[in-house]
Amino acid sequence: MTVSRPFDVLVVGSGASGLAAAVSAERAGARVCLITKGALQSCNSAKAQGGIQAAFSSDDSPEQHAEDVWRSSHETADRRLVEILTCEAPGAIQWLEESGVEFTRENGGYRLARCGGATRKRLLQVGDRTGHVITQALRESFEASQGTALPHHPLVDLRPVPNGWTATCRLKSGDQVEISTVTVILAAGGRCYREAEERGELSTNHPGATGEVTKIALSLGAEARDLDALQYHPNGGAWPPNMQGYSIPETTRAYGAVLLNSEGEEFTDSLGPRDAVSDAIFAEVEAGRGTQTEDGRPAVYLDTTRIPREDAEISLPYMLRRYRASGIDPLAEPILTYPVLHYQNGGLRIDEHGETTLEGLYACGEIAGGTHGRNRMMGNSLLECCVFGRRAGRAAAERARA
Ligand SMILES: Cc1cc2nc3c(=O)[nH]c(=O)nc-3n(C[C@H](O)[C@H](O)[C@H](O)COP(=O)(O)OP(=O)(O)OC[C@H]3O[C@@H](n4cnc5c(N)ncnc54)[C@H](O)[C@@H]3O)c2cc1C
Repeated sequence: MTVSRPFDVLVVGSGASGLAAAVSAERAGARVCLITKGALQSCNSAKAQGGIQAAFSSDDSPEQHAEDVWRSSHETADRRLVEILTCEAPGAIQWLEESGVEFTRENGGYRLARCGGATRKRLLQVGDRTGHVITQALRESFEASQGTALPHHPLVDLRPVPNGWTATCRLKSGDQVEISTVTVILAAGGRCYREAEERGELSTNHPGATGEVTKIALSLGAEARDLDALQYHPNGGAWPPNMQGYSIPETTRAYGAVLLNSEGEEFTDSLGPRDAVSDAIFAEVEAGRGTQTEDGRPAVYLDTTRIPREDAEISLPYMLRRYRASGIDPLAEPILTYPVLHYQNGGLRIDEHGETTLEGLYACGEIAGGTHGRNRMMGNSLLECCVFGRRAGRAAAERARA
């Protein structure tokens, strides 16, 4: 057993939320340690392609953004958290830009797309590698700070002690490391990878999305909400095999792709909320109007030939490259798609500073619940990571230094 030096703030997880929290806590003057299960780059955030929402267009406002979130959540979200999310969105974008993220621009402004469930064009993108660029910028900021990063340090236990917490990590070698800290920020993401394995389904998630940190928090008595509400991404890749489980960016539909059944008919509003679009695909296949992949999987068509070439080349270059490398050109033929397990909508209950129902224990990102209620809109997860990661980082640092 190795015992590390004590820290003010321990962050668990190196996705966008953990990195935003760690950078913010460090800038607030705290001694910060960030632990993560695998390599620092290994997380769902880095896989996010579509973009991040913020109200910038002249016909939009944070209030309109909040209204769209509220409706998409079927009025189940925590309104207080939603208002913080949407009001702080433009500031979070500016903060990311100061950290080195360059969003795609056109005509002097941001290139904005409309995503499912949104009434306005509000999605900012960095091509279709938005999460990769955001996490890289935040990782570089943290690595340039005084903070300590410990990759390959999975959290296996957390105990409250008189002046804070003791965290235990178990290394691959079998050795254990104990870390003392005044406050803890849980940013360990969701559980869709494990859930999909258990159901024998495909998932878009990376293999670290297994949910054990949520279990640790629940065992300590932290409260959670909507944990049963898992989200299917309507457009998982269904064919060819190397694209199975790939999340076809929702921006394909934002730029004109539509869902078609075996008769070539549009059977749903392709830009509806995610749960509605996924349910429509399941129902269409159930009714015998879907199709099958060569390996016998259910599917419908996504007619990507309707996307203007220029939009595809600016906003979907990575997707085009991947399909073309597999011998399919999405601009020349429709692609096959079917919903895949994607996101944990619910999670640990938090207040507006990201504190859970346990004092000194914070949570942000996919591990936390409330901001999306039972159905998240695309582009609001990266946003949540930045807005509530920053809030949790600052609050945990403040409490630790008090
Ligand atoms: C393919 C894909 C595309 C997406 N596209 C978009 C998009 O376009 N826009 C959008 O807003 N959202 C998108 N999302 C959702 C979004 O990316 C994630 O929900 C969000 O980034 C989650 O961030 P996070 O920091 O909470 O968790 P993650 O990024 O998953 O990070 C969790 C971290 O915790 C670590 N961890 C887990 N368990 C432990 C443990 N026991 N001990 C230590 N560390 C641990 C993991 O290794 C990882 O580093 C997408 C998701 C996927 C999978």
